[in-house]
Amino acid sequence: MDNVTLIRVVAGVLAAGVFLLPLYVLPTILGWRKKQRIPILLVNLLLGWTVVGWVGALIWALADTPMQLSQPGAVAAFCPNCGGHMPAGGHFCSMCGHSATEAVKAQTTAS
Ligand SMILES: [Zn+2]
Repeated sequence: MDNVTLIRVVAGVLAAGVFLLPLYVLPTILGWRKKQRIPILLVNLLLGWTVVGWVGALIWALADTPMQLSQPGAVAAFCPNCGGHMPAGGHFCSMCGHSATEAVKAQTTAS
């Protein structure tokens, strides 16, 4: 194998890697904001080279529940100002910026 052929082979492998790497870590990217992101990452990286492991990680990433950034026990509420959904643990309405604590207070006094 001469030098030119070697350079072409290396360039080909690198070009394939640039395209295949994002595809390979796709389950991790999709599962990154999910609760089981570390196990998904491990299955993706360690078992992803087996097609079964990659497909399993992808399905897991899509089926897993999204990560709750708020503390447990926080209740989701509806904004009294605009009626928009306020995320659990969020401090302000995502629609109009109304304070979440007032919304929860209004909801509890109404019931
Ligand atoms: Zn609102």
